[in-house]
Amino acid sequence: MTAIRSTPKIRPDHLDRQAFVYVRQSTLFQVRENTASTARQYDLVQRAHDLGWSKAAITVIDRDQGRSGASAADRDGFQFLIAQVGLGQAGAVLSLEASRLARSCTDWHRLLEICALTDTLVIDEDGIYDPSQYADRLLLGILGTMSEAELHWLRNRLLGGKLARAEQGELRLRPPAGLVFDTARRLVLDPDEEVQQAVRLLFALFEQTGSARAVVQHFAEHRLLFPERLWGKARDGELLWKPLRHGRVLDVLHNPRYAGVFVYGRTQTRTRALPHETPRVKGRTRRVALADWPIVRHNAHPGYLSWEQFLRNQQRLDDNCTSRAHDRRGAVRAGAALLQGLVLCGRCGRRMSVRYTRNGTTPSYECTQVHKQQGGRTCQFIRGDGVDAAVARLFLEAIQPAHLEVSLATLAEIEDQARQAERQWQLRLERARYEADLARRRFLAIDPENRLVGRNLEKDWNEKLTAVDQLEREQAAVLARAMPPLSVAERQHILNLAEDLPALWHAPTTTAAERKQLLRFLIQDVTLTKRERVIAVAIRWQTQACTLTEVPRPPRSCDSRRTPAAVVERVRALASAHSDGQIAQRLNAEGLTSGTGKPFTAARVQWVRYAHAIASGCPEGPNRVVKSQRGDGRYSTRAAAELLNVDISTVMAWCRSGRLDGIQAKPHGPWWIVLTPEIIAELRKPVRQHWGQRSSR
Ligand SMILES: [Zn+2]
Repeated sequence: MTAIRSTPKIRPDHLDRQAFVYVRQSTLFQVRENTASTARQYDLVQRAHDLGWSKAAITVIDRDQGRSGASAADRDGFQFLIAQVGLGQAGAVLSLEASRLARSCTDWHRLLEICALTDTLVIDEDGIYDPSQYADRLLLGILGTMSEAELHWLRNRLLGGKLARAEQGELRLRPPAGLVFDTARRLVLDPDEEVQQAVRLLFALFEQTGSARAVVQHFAEHRLLFPERLWGKARDGELLWKPLRHGRVLDVLHNPRYAGVFVYGRTQTRTRALPHETPRVKGRTRRVALADWPIVRHNAHPGYLSWEQFLRNQQRLDDNCTSRAHDRRGAVRAGAALLQGLVLCGRCGRRMSVRYTRNGTTPSYECTQVHKQQGGRTCQFIRGDGVDAAVARLFLEAIQPAHLEVSLATLAEIEDQARQAERQWQLRLERARYEADLARRRFLAIDPENRLVGRNLEKDWNEKLTAVDQLEREQAAVLARAMPPLSVAERQHILNLAEDLPALWHAPTTTAAERKQLLRFLIQDVTLTKRERVIAVAIRWQTQACTLTEVPRPPRSCDSRRTPAAVVERVRALASAHSDGQIAQRLNAEGLTSGTGKPFTAARVQWVRYAHAIASGCPEGPNRVVKSQRGDGRYSTRAAAELLNVDISTVMAWCRSGRLDGIQAKPHGPWWIVLTPEIIAELRKPVRQHWGQRSSR
């Protein structure tokens, strides 16, 4: 000890200052498991004391436990140490080896630089170094470089080993639910039949519905649970049952291990500098595209589905993705629009969206992306009912030869679904009963004198029995709600329906979603183009073959209410010699109706004349003449005013002045006026031609 104390490198001014002992382990695992190293590091306190520092002058910095030395960022302890050294508070820095202080040359040399400036010693297990002396500085520099290189080699060796094992398919990664390692460390299907059944049900449901959400819904409706096996540590292999969540379904569907394929490198983590903050880097995990997976070993172990099925599922999931809706079909939704997600715009090629008009019953397809995103015009708006009917007709024609297979598949699907749900419940019950039985046997096996244990076991048994009871009641409730098994008559009925696919298609029990799902089996997309009189419909089948057809454009609502052209012509022919009332009578007698299907009245005829700029040439005047004529042939003031095309006040003035032959039954009563064709011809003001503005209709 005295020999060390006499070392010239440690001088009294070093001992006057603090000695900092820096303790660090890279990971929390090392902190917990590798306690020997930690203890050795704390032993440095004793070494500092032996070297002459008093206990009060020794500070341990162990804030960085569980932090990697690859960077000084996020290492508060190291930052604190640098600060203390910089302030000249440190006489020495003690660390087990250089690698504890820094695995990065930058950090290491910064520390040495500051140590040299403030005359601070660096001490490890092997020696005492003075960074201000050239030889020591050189040695420390080499140590730092070695330390960084060591980290690099370490990483390379670990990664290389991992990659080599991955290439052999021997890397032991956590298996997904439904797969387990057997005693020979081979990956096999989970021997628990209930677990297998749950996984198979998930895949079967996705196959049927094509939607991950529908799978979740089915599990929730039937109150089914999905398994999860814990991995590593004390509870390794323990089985948990949890409600199925959407993210879980996606994980399962995206996981190639279910297809018996070992894949390494499905995700990639890249570090990047975060702006705006103190120098920090952060890892970011990204999914690697299927085509770029570095290591893929087919038939590595048993699975639940084929590789082809897996790829098909990926395609379907990709199609369902709505975040990039413009180039994907999207999952089938419940609305009535048959071509939802399938329609492309024939003008610009964009995907058309669905809109429901008329109280949500009539679907329309619209191309509004330019309108929505760039403020442009709506590209196309097409009423959907006619198009849907045409596509459905073509689809039914196309599917005729295959109708038998479809019918069988439909039947099998329904039965299979019911069977699978029931099986799942049976397995759950079986497990619960087994556990209750186990608890019973445990209770019976105990010595009756051992009351304390006996009481606990009895309680356990009771709880298990309650659980069985609860499950049985739940199952009964679920079964009551579920579809009853098909009777022979019903089965025959379904068979008959399937025989005649059009009938199945039009059946009220067939939902819009089911029709759409059927349609998607055959049709890839439908392109719609609005032409002058027709809508061009181009169907691209899944086989890439195309069928072209045309649907007449539905009349605009204003057109459908318009007066028929024949009626307008009839009015034009009659107007020269008949009043509006007379024309109305003639039209009604001929069985003609207005655009809205109503009988004609004088007012309607007048409107037709007005709208089509047909002047009345009737010598008796155009309208309401008959109604306004008395038995003796005298006209009312209003009728006279209309016939003469003047104001009522003018007619009255003319009566008072004697220009017209008018009489009044009592003072202030109505005038009754004699009008003859001659008088009308003499006094009538010419008609002002104000029709022209409306004639464009
Ligand atoms: Zn368009």
